[in-house]
Amino acid sequence: MTQSRTAIVTGAARGIGAAIAVRLAQDGFAVGVVDLDESSCTETIAAITSAGGRAIAVGADVSSSADVEAAVRRVTEELGAPTVLVNNAGITRDNLLFKMSDEDWDAVMGVHLRGSFLMSRAVQAHQTEAGWGRVVNLSSVSALGNRGQANYSTAKAGLQGFTKTLAVELGKFGVTANAIAPGFIESEMTAATAERVGVPYEDFKKGAAEQIPVRRVGQPSDIAATVSFLVSEEAGFISGQVIYIAGGPRD
Ligand code: NAP
Repeated sequence: MTQSRTAIVTGAARGIGAAIAVRLAQDGFAVGVVDLDESSCTETIAAITSAGGRAIAVGADVSSSADVEAAVRRVTEELGAPTVLVNNAGITRDNLLFKMSDEDWDAVMGVHLRGSFLMSRAVQAHQTEAGWGRVVNLSSVSALGNRGQANYSTAKAGLQGFTKTLAVELGKFGVTANAIAPGFIESEMTAATAERVGVPYEDFKKGAAEQIPVRRVGQPSDIAATVSFLVSEEAGFISGQVIYIAGGPRD
């Protein structure tokens, strides 16, 4: 990179988002670390700044258009116009269809779909002005269908269509958009799933690893490494793709 660029990573207080934020800071980006609660971002910010990187914590609910506008404005003022966006914030509200409430459905759509839409719409103004940009959306293998996840699976499949449309619309401005679809990644999200089904997390991970061709579960760093490549200069001809990172093939 000739000059420092600014990236925004949502849901970056912990888990996959935190690993992505730290990795992009190592790559030379100034990073807007966005999560629901600004104070929950302390560890991510410390990891970045103690290694000599630049980052600010921004509290925002990505499903609120006022929060998103304010967050992007703050990042622009304090770090410079953001041209890289990683839509990572996510929640699960799992239940079988007949038990899934209206609130479970709306909450998941709100964070994943509305959140990615609002963030992308706000950031594209800076990307198109710069004539360069990168968007990476976090999909999931659940997009292919997963028991108990009608809401999440729909949102993650929707993000794939959203990604392809951004790629088509924004390509002429030098902006690429890609989706990453992780399989089982060690994080609080999969720990919560283990708790929900009543299996100790270590056993849950071991069971998952046995089903994965490379015989291990994924780590947040596996996702961060791929984001690092997709937002790099040399990935400029890759756009509208869905990359499954699951330790084996997926359709
Ligand atoms: P995680 O540990 O649960 O972290 C998600 C982060 O997003 C949390 O810090 C959470 O904040 C934040 N967040 C939730 N709602 C938000 C909102 N409305 N606005 C801003 N931030 C919000 O999850 P993860 O495992 O790192 O997953 C990261 C992404 O990868 C998600 O999109 C997830 O769906 C996807 N993914 C994960 C896996 C996996 O195996 N872990 C697999 C496939 C895809 P709070 O803590 O305050 O709620």
